Amino acid sequence: MKILEKDELCWCGSGKKYEDCHMNFDLKINKQAKKLKALSPSRKMIKSPKDIEGIKAAAVVNNGLLDMVEGRIKAGISTDDINTWCEEFLKEHDAHSADLGYMGYPKSICTAVNDVICHGIPSDKVILKEGDIINVDVTTEYKGYYADASRMFMIGEVSENAKRLVEVTKECLEIGMAQIKPFYSQVRDIGIAIERYAKSKGYSVVMEYCGHGVGYKMHEDPYVLHYASYEPSVLLVPGMVITIEPMINEGSRYIRFKAGDDWTSYTKDGKLSAQWEHTIVITEDGYEVVSK
Ligand SMILES: [Zn+2]
Repeated sequence: MKILEKDELCWCGSGKKYEDCHMNFDLKINKQAKKLKALSPSRKMIKSPKDIEGIKAAAVVNNGLLDMVEGRIKAGISTDDINTWCEEFLKEHDAHSADLGYMGYPKSICTAVNDVICHGIPSDKVILKEGDIINVDVTTEYKGYYADASRMFMIGEVSENAKRLVEVTKECLEIGMAQIKPFYSQVRDIGIAIERYAKSKGYSVVMEYCGHGVGYKMHEDPYVLHYASYEPSVLLVPGMVITIEPMINEGSRYIRFKAGDDWTSYTKDGKLSAQWEHTIVITEDGYEVVSK
């Protein structure tokens, strides 16, 4: 963090003198980043209280959408039916899907059934059946702010293997979040903990996709890896808003695509994959999960 002159206006736009606003914050970041051999976050990564309110409002809509899906999802419906429900819900709430049209993505949500890791495109040909597991992932844009979350749903009675994978994946997300210690941990600690836990349960972590900053856009810096990397990474500090969204495979971590679809990522070995995702605001003394 570049340290300004005491009398200059603070960079955050508060209109206050730097000395009376973010000066001590910036000094603490520099001190802790040096101590932990971490990178300082950019100023763009640090959201104002007003921005955080905006992100929380987007998260309320996103949460409502996933609750709605939870109440209606069942065997016999198609993944395109879920997409239609979501589009109706967003319209009713004066919100938009950030997924729709993103780099040409054709639908408003992603639906990943069984061996689909992520970015499954809703289709009227994919009919849910008893025993399936499915991830529904959506990023809501509401009044200029973005919130991103996904949940797993189990359709009727599912196998013990599937249930265990879904549960352990949720634990991976929780263990990842528990690494957030403002000023005292860095982004890489999240992935180190997730990979260690997933492996201890006999699972693998998908390496091709990661969590990210979120708020002004769907994807912002920093990248949040879900596997162990020991490269210096960004210090976690109050005001940052990130997603953690581990994709955990029952078998090997490797992925594949099918001809004619560059979006949908499948497990290479055809075994199951699961994912849970939250949008998380880092606070003065910890973090707040704004999705649910
Ligand atoms: Zn300030």
